[in-house]
Amino acid sequence: MQDQPTTDPTTAAAKLGFDPDALRNRYRAERDKRVRADGNDQYVEVAGKFAHFVDDPYVDPGFRREPITDEVEVLVIGGGFGGLLMGVRLREAGVTDLRILEKAGDFGGTWYWNRYPGAACDVESYIYLPLLEEVGYVPKEKYSGAPEILEHSRAIARKFDLYRGAIFQTAVTSMRWDEPSGRWVVETDRGDAIRARFVCMANGPLDRPKLPGLPGLESFEGHSFHTSRWDYAYTGGGPEGGLVGLADKNVGIIGTGATAVQCIPHLAQGAKHLWVFQRTPSSIDVRANRPTDPAWAASLEPGWQKRRMENFNILVTGGMQDEDLVADGWTDIIRKLLVMVQRDASQGEPIDIVKTMELADFEKMEQIRARVESIVEDERTAEALKPWYRQFCKRPCFHDGYLQAFNRPNVTLVDTAGRGVERITPRGIVAGGVEYPLDCIVYASGFEVGTSFARRAGYDVVGRDGVRLSDHWADGVRTLHGIHSHGFPNCFMLGTQQAGFTVNFPHRLDEQARHVAHVLGRVRETGARRIEVTAQAEQEWIDTIISLSGMGRQFLEECTPGYYNNEGKPDLRSAQDGFYGAGPIAYFGVLRRWRDEGTMPGMVVEGGTAG
Ligand code: NDP
Repeated sequence: MQDQPTTDPTTAAAKLGFDPDALRNRYRAERDKRVRADGNDQYVEVAGKFAHFVDDPYVDPGFRREPITDEVEVLVIGGGFGGLLMGVRLREAGVTDLRILEKAGDFGGTWYWNRYPGAACDVESYIYLPLLEEVGYVPKEKYSGAPEILEHSRAIARKFDLYRGAIFQTAVTSMRWDEPSGRWVVETDRGDAIRARFVCMANGPLDRPKLPGLPGLESFEGHSFHTSRWDYAYTGGGPEGGLVGLADKNVGIIGTGATAVQCIPHLAQGAKHLWVFQRTPSSIDVRANRPTDPAWAASLEPGWQKRRMENFNILVTGGMQDEDLVADGWTDIIRKLLVMVQRDASQGEPIDIVKTMELADFEKMEQIRARVESIVEDERTAEALKPWYRQFCKRPCFHDGYLQAFNRPNVTLVDTAGRGVERITPRGIVAGGVEYPLDCIVYASGFEVGTSFARRAGYDVVGRDGVRLSDHWADGVRTLHGIHSHGFPNCFMLGTQQAGFTVNFPHRLDEQARHVAHVLGRVRETGARRIEVTAQAEQEWIDTIISLSGMGRQFLEECTPGYYNNEGKPDLRSAQDGFYGAGPIAYFGVLRRWRDEGTMPGMVVEGGTAG
């Protein structure tokens, strides 16, 4: 017999196995505990007396070279996946006169800096590592560790001849458009003044470490560092662990986000005692990493990587596919949603997609909380490790050793009940009124999001008529497609802002890199002197971004604070600085249709045959 639809909450809860109203209330209460008046201002910039937190520990000190003052056709700023993909797509488009400029000592970006023990990517390696077919490589495991990803970055650079002309250990200090010559002049901290006809900025998100603005931060007399500049000279060991230098050390770690989740098991193994200072627990799902099956690798048909990337992207944005090729924690929530939709449909109940998504989310998070309970032995610790928010309020984590680390006798969770650490003293950390004496503090406190472009990039861009990008964007990001900004000719950005959000970042980067290579190719064909987006096209894109942000904004308002929702304060400004709300597939479609249209709508092309 078919169940009758019912609105009685007790029956509904019994049927579901949880009470949606009770969960909604709990989520709201947990969120309210964490919202702070200072929002993003609670963090301090890693500059001035904190500048040493961003020194590069992976290069030999004392590097010197002569300043470079030559001219190139294209200068790419950033040698992470964005810069690499940009370089590859430009090489494919026939650009030979190309330089990539990077502040690190090699290619790799995120994967150059983040070498902390356990660093790995929990997006499947077969879709995350770019250009696998082109480079002729199949990753060793379903989820790659950081060293393999860093090595793959170098392999891409070698394969596409991107080391030629590359400049490392060099940070841009200014970038200025010179109207008479129609060139950008890019100055650096090595005294360079490089002239370029085009500049592609692939500065990357999440690259500028941030520190909690705690009283006494500089007073600590022990050792401290940020996870993105891991000090192996102090801890011993390497990315695989083995932190033997900590055997007689009391270590504290601030933060329990995706980074902390990966390094805590290694700190737990290495330290004499580890204190984990938690403000908000992460959701920790199963990772189930496994070696690549050689028979499967051998069976892959040409074009497999693109198909797999698209399959994943469609599934995680709520689309339908006959098969779930990746089939992991990311796609699991969507599978749950589809099962619920089918169940409602088969019971003749009207389908309310927003409500069904919420229920699927509750179900998923109940499962995550049950997993904590099944692994963590101490009841109070288990309770404190349970996340009470919707899964995509924070970055979901996947790990098979993190929760287990709290069963070790040398690990203590210091849960701050949403309030965070209070202060740092010369001896250690104070939380909940208690001082914890420490030899070492590891800051797993994340990266700047929502601060100004110039602050994150370390330079401002001075465009046509002397207008600074920081002034042009003073009231919010202004672009067409997240790529071009009015007043900044021959300049392209591979940015997350005002672009479609993808779980699989390199997928978006490649779509943008292909797009920029296309535009640049068209300009080169015509021999045009410059290309610039019109003020009108830019404004129309901003209006689109804001108008599409509505539904997402309500979701974010109800979320626990974090960098996804401007630390609990989503507003019009953060909506404008945010993503293209119709999702990555629609965004890629917008770019494709714009290219297919053929006339480069919204752009002014001057000089050459197009002028
Ligand atoms: P996050 O910003 O995600 O985490 C910062 C952590 O610091 C949070 O737990 C935060 O708590 C905590 N924190 C900040 N201030 C205080 C305080 N005063 N007291 C106590 N705790 C505090 O940074 P991560 O480096 O962990 O991750 C950044 C991003 O990098 C991820 O979201 C992900 O996109 C990416 N990443 C990806 C990985 C992958 O597998 N692909 C692996 C690692 C990172 P609260 O939550 O309360 O704000």
